[in-house]
Amino acid sequence: MTFEVRHRDMLARLGKISTKSGTIETPALLPVINPVIQPISIETMRQEYSCDALITNAYILMKRKATELREGGVHRFLDFDRVIMTDSGAYQILIYGKVDVSPEEIVQFQEQMASDIATILDIPTGWRSSKKQAKITVDETIKRAKQAMQIITRKDILWVGPIQGGQHLDLVAYAAKEVGKLPFAIHALGSPTPIMENYLFDKLVDMIMSAKMNMPQHRPLHLFGAGHPFMFALAVALGCDMFDSAAYAIFARQNRYMTEYGSRRLDELEYFPCSCSVCRKNTPKEVRLLPSQERQEILAKHNLSASFAELKRIKQAIIEGRLWEFLELRAHSHPALLQATKRLKEYEAYLENFSPTTKNSGLFFFSHLGLVRPEITRHRKRLSERYSPPRNAEILILLPSPSKRPFHQAKEVIGLMERIQKKFGKKQELFHICIYAAPFGVTPLELDEIYPLSQHEIALPLDLESKKYVASQVKGYIETFSYKRVILIEDPKVWKDTISIACKSIKKPNFPITVFPIKETFDKAAQNDIIGILQTSLI
Ligand SMILES: [Zn+2]
Repeated sequence: MTFEVRHRDMLARLGKISTKSGTIETPALLPVINPVIQPISIETMRQEYSCDALITNAYILMKRKATELREGGVHRFLDFDRVIMTDSGAYQILIYGKVDVSPEEIVQFQEQMASDIATILDIPTGWRSSKKQAKITVDETIKRAKQAMQIITRKDILWVGPIQGGQHLDLVAYAAKEVGKLPFAIHALGSPTPIMENYLFDKLVDMIMSAKMNMPQHRPLHLFGAGHPFMFALAVALGCDMFDSAAYAIFARQNRYMTEYGSRRLDELEYFPCSCSVCRKNTPKEVRLLPSQERQEILAKHNLSASFAELKRIKQAIIEGRLWEFLELRAHSHPALLQATKRLKEYEAYLENFSPTTKNSGLFFFSHLGLVRPEITRHRKRLSERYSPPRNAEILILLPSPSKRPFHQAKEVIGLMERIQKKFGKKQELFHICIYAAPFGVTPLELDEIYPLSQHEIALPLDLESKKYVASQVKGYIETFSYKRVILIEDPKVWKDTISIACKSIKKPNFPITVFPIKETFDKAAQNDIIGILQTSLI
């Protein structure tokens, strides 16, 4: 199996998974094909939606058409020559409690019908399982995964190792570690459907991260039953590479219309907020009046189209390095999604560790929510772990954000530096200028050209949380390094004393800090005043 990654952003991977029937571009959505009731033909999926991968249920096929499939294979049966993934019947176990085939039979059947990606018969944990019950499902799934390895004969099929555990995160982590030790090509996180139906996206974040942090990084992660476009950005950002969706059809049956910012009932719509082929040609009123089957087909087509369109937007955002901005946009389509995005704070170290270090684009900061993004964590980490101030620096000059970036090119900073040089000559090396600004906190002036310290835009005025973050970074910076004195230049109107109060609370008793208030950017007069303060500080 090869999983070739072309672009990364956060934990997202735009890449290609090779199978015996062709490649799938990730992040990928595999529409669920129900061989019994199917609102959109496979031919339409292929031609109108350029769909090159499907998922269908091996258990249902085995119950209904076993001989035909054994003889002719699943590609001929569905008349689809691209990638076909099969699920094993675990969903039926979740709904009906059990299935009447053995794990061995399901593995063998998928080999016989030549699935490209196949899934062992796991035991879904479900949402309401007690810890004890959940442990039983996890242990049984691990046992079956090990057994499957003994009976698998076809090496050209990509086998999926499911990760169970439900809401019991330690069990998800354990399952990911254990199943990850076996030579599966792909892993899949099970049971999130009830979470998604109840909009418990913050719990989903925990589940995905528990799996992700404990499974082999280089393998793709499939998220079972996650078929609503409005949570794709979140799941992709957390490193889910594949999704399957029966939702496009199920929602259509329920007269529900999917959008990238949530679902609407057909009855509620006066306009279709979409320009896909069916929405261009119909109005909601016309669709409401259609016979049930036609109505379902139209809604299913739109739902599928909305799902694929959202994935394309996400892929483009990954290429542009704007997945975080895109995620923030989506996060604001529902409070539950925003809550889930805030949850990423818990995983900031891991997100930082596996996110790309440079990008082609600058960053946009809209609010304190952006403080979670990996670039901020990275700056903070590097400053505390790898940085030391210039050797002879004794006096730290903390300047507020100047009028221009890179900071050292701002006229007030140039003016101040020239004055320092003129006044102090060789002794200027005693002074060290750092800028404090949102969102990065403290930036030593000599680092200000390192990406993305100058390559970002920020919305002003700052919110209180962003100010508090900068204040805590200033405090931490002073506590970490051994300056002898700090001169803080602060505009009290902008910072409302947050920085000076933070400075006064540092854990260095009687440490000399001079606060010099200014108005907005400091002019020549203020620069002269600052020189005066520096002079006294040297006495
Ligand atoms: Zn549409």
